[in-house]
Formats: sequence, structure tokens, C-alpha cells
Amino acid sequence: MNYDQSNQRDTLFERLSGCFLGGPKLDNLPGGRTEALRKLHTYDPSSYSRTRNYTNGAVSQLSPYLRHGMLSLIEVRDHLRSKFSNDPSHLEEFLRQLAWRDFFEKVLTWNGHALDEDLEEPKHSVSRSNRIPLDVLSGDTGLPCIDGMLSDLFDQGYLHNHARLWFAAYLCHFRGVRWQEGAGLFRQHLYDGDIASNSASWQWVEGTFASKPYFMNKDNIANFSSGKWCNSCKVKCPFDADYPKLQHRLFAGSTAPFVSKVADKAAVTNNTQPASHDIPEDIAPLPPNTDLIWVHDAAISWVDECVAQNPNAAVAFVFNKPALQAEPWAYHRLAFVADGIDDLFKNLPNSTKLTLVGDPVERLTTLAHKLGATTIHISEHPNPWVIETAEQLRMKFRVIIHPRLVLAEYPLEPKRFSRYWEKVAIQVLGHRPNPPKRKFK
Ligand SMILES: Cc1cc2nc3c(=O)[nH]c(=O)nc-3n(C[C@H](O)[C@H](O)[C@H](O)COP(=O)(O)OP(=O)(O)OC[C@H]3O[C@@H](n4cnc5c(N)ncnc54)[C@H](O)[C@@H]3O)c2cc1C
Repeated sequence: MNYDQSNQRDTLFERLSGCFLGGPKLDNLPGGRTEALRKLHTYDPSSYSRTRNYTNGAVSQLSPYLRHGMLSLIEVRDHLRSKFSNDPSHLEEFLRQLAWRDFFEKVLTWNGHALDEDLEEPKHSVSRSNRIPLDVLSGDTGLPCIDGMLSDLFDQGYLHNHARLWFAAYLCHFRGVRWQEGAGLFRQHLYDGDIASNSASWQWVEGTFASKPYFMNKDNIANFSSGKWCNSCKVKCPFDADYPKLQHRLFAGSTAPFVSKVADKAAVTNNTQPASHDIPEDIAPLPPNTDLIWVHDAAISWVDECVAQNPNAAVAFVFNKPALQAEPWAYHRLAFVADGIDDLFKNLPNSTKLTLVGDPVERLTTLAHKLGATTIHISEHPNPWVIETAEQLRMKFRVIIHPRLVLAEYPLEPKRFSRYWEKVAIQVLGHRPNPPKRKFK
């Protein structure tokens, strides 16, 4: 008997007890490759370069799908290049932004776990705390702009790039918190919460992966948010100064006091459930020479080589319970991934498809033994936990890593985007780039 275990949402979240914050919402972003393709095919980037820095600009919101491998950078680029082949200049800025994602993945590939710590010496000597103040965690700082950003983060799971920069600068420089704490908060709540783009961007703001720290003033927020918070704001604004004054205030003085991290906005669910038994006891061994595919959370796509080439293998996705217990995700993030798995399983011909919850090495080992599988297929990814899981499985099984196509080949150490872009722009764009006009990354 083989299994096509449908991903029953209530049962799944019972098994994920202790792994998430908050609960279901009506307006969750739907996950999955089907939805990703719909979004890609309806996206029009023609006003992107003119508007992208404005919080109401024509951005794509494709990042959650890219983060989870429901779309690849290459297929986004190729689709847009063929759709807008008559006017490639419209696309240039969009493709340059896609390349930031590729660049940060290369930073992760190069640095691995070292990306969790400062990549470079800080460019200032102001001390940092490892606690996020409670007013920030509860979205109640009294600053309409910051509270608005926090509400978008907690409720929508999405922030425009400029809002991410502002919030990161606020937390690091105006509240004196270590960038790692903010990066953790983003990973928990953003649909696209990531290691590479997230940690590297926080370091870019802090100045440990850039030549200087990034910060903004009120004019910048008012301009690029089209006054949505500032026009009616009555509070004393900590950002209302020119850049030299702010620079002096932020980096020549001391940081604001902080209170301890006692609670998050949404309570973490309790963890009193017994261990889950998600591998059916009577699961039948596979016919000889049948393999197992481990689908991890950055490769949820039926065109991923790993699954596309193995229609007879058993397929398993594992929610990494120990990792989620250590850093619970917002419910909407897990629901988005669960949607993606449902959609993937619907579109795969493979007859054995399971969603497991637990320690990935233990769950996959148990499953492979039950199935009698001796080979495990994994899609290549720079996330250290994917690499480490593959290494541990390799001690017991034959592991085949399926290479991941990258947007650009760049064999050098990825230190600065400008240097990387000089070398890869032709590969990404298919032509020489126009001279840059940029102010922001
Ligand atoms: C502090 C901070 C934290 C961030 N954390 C994450 C994260 O966890 N996950 C994540 O995917 N992105 C992160 N970003 C990068 C960027 O903000 C988002 O990728 C982008 O806002 C996603 O929205 P979009 O899809 O509408 O982007 P668009 O503007 O439509 O861009 C298209 C795609 O290009 C890529 N891209 C665009 N801008 C950037 C950028 N600055 N850096 C890297 N890739 C980019 C993304 O894949 C994006 O989907 C972070 C940025 C900052 C400043």
C-alpha cells in the first residue's frame, strides 16, 4: 500500500504545536507554485524603476515564492525577458534587484554560519543590546511610522524594501539593538523570511557588510511613503533632523535604554502535545531500487530537478520541529509553506508523498528504513541546515545532491554588490547595463 498523505491543515497544526505564533487569518497569502506562476504572469514591471523606492510603488511581491523555491530567479528573469523583449530597458532595474537576491545567496554560500555574525568590523563603536524592547515587540512604540511598519510585519507578513531599511535602521541605530535580534524577528514574521537576503541586509544597515551604516531621516520617510504616516503625525519625531546632526546623535552619543524581551506580540502556542506519529506504521516497502526525495523549504516546486527527474521516488517534506521550537514562525508563514506542499503534491505523479514533523534527519532516516530506500535525493541550497542535514544523511544513505541553477556565475568572494554587478550584469540582462542612476540598493 502506498500513501498520498493529504496535508490536513488542522491535524498539521496540532502536530506543529509549539512551533508557531498566532493563529489563522482570513487574508493569508496563498502559497504554492500555481499561485506563484499566476502572480508572475500578471506582473507588469514597466513602472518598476520609477516607483520601486516608494512604499506604494509597483513592486512584485514575488519574494515569498522565490524564498521557498516555488519560483526560481532564472524562470522569473526568462519569463519577463521574453514578455518584454521589445523594451528590455524597462526590465533592467527589476533584473538588477533580482540579482541582489542571487548576490546574497552567494554571500551565504561563501560564508555559511559566519553570516550569523558580523562579516566585517563595525564602522562605529556604539554598544548594542541583545534584547528587543517590549514596545517594539508589541508594535506600540508611539511612532506612527514604526508602529505602522510593525503592524504590516505582524499582520501582513510583508514589508516594502524601504520600510525594511527604515525599521532595521530604527532598531539598530535609534534603539541600539543587535542586528541579529531584528533579523530573527523578520524571519519569524515575513513570508519571505530568509537567511541570505535577511541577515546580509541587516548587516548592510548596521554597517558590518557595507562601508558605512545606513540610516534615514524624516524627510526620507515622508517622501518615499508619500506622507502616509508623517502628514498627520503629531509626535516628537526622532528622525526629524538633517543627516550630519543625526549621524552625530546616533554614533557619537549613547543608545536608548531597553527592557527585556518578555513576550512577543502573539503568544507562542504551548508544547504539550505528544510526539507525532506521522509515518504510517503499515507503510509498505518500495519496490527495489526506489529512492526517497527530501523536499526542503527552499525547493517547493515540481519543476525542481530533484523531483522532476524522479517520478517513481517517495517524496517527503519535513517541518523542522526543533528549529521551529527554537524560533517559532508566525502561523501565516507555516500556512504558506503548507499551501506550497499541498500544491506540490497535487502536481506530482509520485504515489508516496508525506508531510512529516520532527527532526529532519531522524524523520527521513526512519522513513527511508520503512520504505527500504537506500538513496535520498536533495536539491542543492546554500542554507547551512540543508547542507548539514545532507551531510548527516550521507553517513547512512547514498545522497544525491541535484545542482541548483544560479542566476549568474561569480567565482570570486562576494564582498560588494557593485563589484559583483560589474561582472555579472551582462549574464543577467543579456546586454550591457545602462549607466547607474541609483541612490538606494
Ligand atoms: C533589513 C532587510 C531585511 C530583508 N529581509 C529579506 C528576507 O528575509 N527575505 C527576502 O527575500 N528579502 C529580504 N530583504 C530584501 C528585500 O527587501 C525583499 O526581497 C523585497 O522587498 C521583496 O519584495 P518584492 O518581492 O516586492 O521585491 P521587488 O522589488 O519586486 O523585487 C523583485 C525581487 O528581487 C529581489 N530583491 C529585490 N530587492 C532586493 C534586495 N534589496 N535584496 C535582496 N533581494 C532583493 C527579491 O527576490 C524580490 O522578490 C530584506 C531587506 C532588508 C533591508
